[in-house]
Amino acid sequence: MPFKKLDTNTLILIAMGVLVILASAGLAAWLYQSSPAVAKPTAKPTKVAAVVQGKALTTDQATALGIPTAEMQKQAARRPQQPSTQPTQDAGKALEVLETPKYVSNAEAGVTTFEKRPKVAIVIDDVGVHSALSRKADKVLPPEVTFSFLPYGSATMELAKKARKEGREVMIHLPMEPMPRLDEPPIDPGPNALFVELSPEEMRKRTQINLKDLKDMSVGVNNHMGSRFTSDLEGMKVVLPIIEESGLFFMDSLTTPNSAVEEAAKAVTPNMPLLKRDVFLDHYITEDALRAALQRLEKEAQATGKAIAIGHPHSRTLSVLQDWLPTLPYKGIDLVPITHMLADDTPAFEPSAPALPKGIAAPQNSQEENPSDAEAPTSIEEPQQPEPMHVINPEDQNGTTGLY
Ligand SMILES: [Zn+2]
Repeated sequence: MPFKKLDTNTLILIAMGVLVILASAGLAAWLYQSSPAVAKPTAKPTKVAAVVQGKALTTDQATALGIPTAEMQKQAARRPQQPSTQPTQDAGKALEVLETPKYVSNAEAGVTTFEKRPKVAIVIDDVGVHSALSRKADKVLPPEVTFSFLPYGSATMELAKKARKEGREVMIHLPMEPMPRLDEPPIDPGPNALFVELSPEEMRKRTQINLKDLKDMSVGVNNHMGSRFTSDLEGMKVVLPIIEESGLFFMDSLTTPNSAVEEAAKAVTPNMPLLKRDVFLDHYITEDALRAALQRLEKEAQATGKAIAIGHPHSRTLSVLQDWLPTLPYKGIDLVPITHMLADDTPAFEPSAPALPKGIAAPQNSQEENPSDAEAPTSIEEPQQPEPMHVINPEDQNGTTGLY
């Protein structure tokens, strides 16, 4: 019967239709699952160029929509924040060693400087060991002052992270063997310190241990103590390449006039930027000595365009710095983070006295120059000074003099 026949045909058609629909749905589901548009771990990550509102896009789709791809964003993140001053030629060459050295990527650019004005950088060493004084230093000193952290300090990691958040540049204070002093017990530079008697392998291992936790947030390394180790050419030749490979620069604290750092660097790390300390601020922790050291720093900067001081978190050092730092703008001197010392801008520097802002008198202490200093060489001063360590600040004497 036609009705019955039709019914059978209809049933067959319906069955076929259902099959087609099921097959299409299955195919669609399979296609959907294997589509790169689904951001799931099994999808090929190379095909997902960008994810916008939960939807993955291919490179072509992202490009067509003008959306930056993950790769473009990564490249942007890797791109160095340029300091306000240009990196030196040496810094440029070191770019070949690492994609972006940490003294470029971790440099703080947020400082207003004037190209032709003298610049000073202040590095506070030994931060992290004496927790109360380290905290005080962090609280009272502006972020343009650089902190060098002892890797083994109890407050080191906490304060180093805080420093980075505040826009302060961080260095690693690498403990090294001091020269033994006559009639004095041997001085311990701290755990994992570098000694000249160690095997090169052990030196490498200890250097890596010291750099490990801080290197990603640091710009450079300077020696803690080290009057013996830094005068050892072979030892420095072992240590400097590890610092360079870590994307960091080295600053010689110059705790000995016999430093072999420069010679070692020329031999093994000629492309790594090298800095050296000009003035120790608090070898003698009296107000007069501190102020005299700061005047030497000013003179050095005015004579050569730039100067680096090292100080320590002593109460008196901090209070004298608090007094002195606000006078710098009136003297035409810029306080800069340590990486600004890597810039080779000396040719632009004009040593003529900078003009004071109108109506502002020069601070008194800048006039008090010791005539006997007038003929003193303006290059590196006080290399003969013994290195500062275990200096007791009468104010900080609560059994916690530590390693200052
Ligand atoms: Zn030190």
